[in-house]
Amino acid sequence: MLGYWMQAVFDGHNDVLLRLWQNEKKGGDAVAEFTNGTEKGHIDLPRARAGGLAGGLCAIYVPSGDLVLPQPDADGSYVTPLSAPLERAPSLDIALEMAAIALRLERAGSWRLCRSMADIDNAMADDEFAAVLHMEGCEAIGADLAALEVFHAAGLRSLGPVWSRHNIFGHGVPFAFPMSPDTGPGLTDAGRELVRECNRLGILIDLSHITEQGFWDVAKLSDQPLVASHSNPHALVPVARNLTDRQLDAIRDSKGLVGLNFAVTMLRADGRENADTPLSDMVRHIDYLVDKLGIDGVAIGSDFDGALIPREIGTAGGLQNLVAALQGAGYGGAELAKLCRENWFRVLRSAWHEDGED
Ligand SMILES: [Zn+2]
Repeated sequence: MLGYWMQAVFDGHNDVLLRLWQNEKKGGDAVAEFTNGTEKGHIDLPRARAGGLAGGLCAIYVPSGDLVLPQPDADGSYVTPLSAPLERAPSLDIALEMAAIALRLERAGSWRLCRSMADIDNAMADDEFAAVLHMEGCEAIGADLAALEVFHAAGLRSLGPVWSRHNIFGHGVPFAFPMSPDTGPGLTDAGRELVRECNRLGILIDLSHITEQGFWDVAKLSDQPLVASHSNPHALVPVARNLTDRQLDAIRDSKGLVGLNFAVTMLRADGRENADTPLSDMVRHIDYLVDKLGIDGVAIGSDFDGALIPREIGTAGGLQNLVAALQGAGYGGAELAKLCRENWFRVLRSAWHEDGED
């Protein structure tokens, strides 16, 4: 396309470790699958290079076996019951196995496991995939937070206290349309301790999946910008996972960000699980978020390998189709650089105490 330029994308959320872990359980080789490429899922090294995916937050996520999105009613509405809480011990085993895959990928030279902004800068300069270890739901961590110290030492630099289920730290929102995110209580006392400890250690706190009350509990307590790594505006698609205008205002006031989730159920006005979702729906969400948050508060949070995404993106290899659509909608080079990576780098620098402040 004439006038089109490629933008390196640093992405706020993917589930590639989940996919690699699941395939290892079936006898696959995670390092080979990521490094050499595969037809499976959305992310591997060849497709990341082709699509300009420079890196991102890679989630340790202990799956809920009982999650099935129901068929919507005639009016398009659906409610998925919250997944049952998980036991600590098997969750810790699975989290360790996923962390081990991340460490093996690092040792094999397949990606750089980044613990600082310097690591991300160096990885990008060397054309290596810049992976940041994230934990989506902290069922693997006990209330004493001993495991948090160990995961931090292993490279964990970001976490969401809850996924869409309850745990000892707080309460998650169900997958439901239409529904308010104000579905129940927020942080527990253990959750408040977790937030303080993340602030102290330098771990980013992610607010995607938490109840609206949990969002306000973190907002009151945390000394860091508010971040929802993979959520969209509720005003456009009223799923419980999306953010109300009040939440967006609070994120803006804290100098935080929202990463655009590519999940079609969170992009489409009808909330349907349908991959024939045009790029214009993604642009519509970015426009709305930029209007609410400013250009410094909007980023990408693809949910690659964790959701059904628009066919016009397809995989990480199609990421530049979104960049081109945004350029077509009038975003210039400096704005695209912020949306595609610089805004993430700014909040990571802050959360990691690398911005010269506490
Ligand atoms: Zn998620």
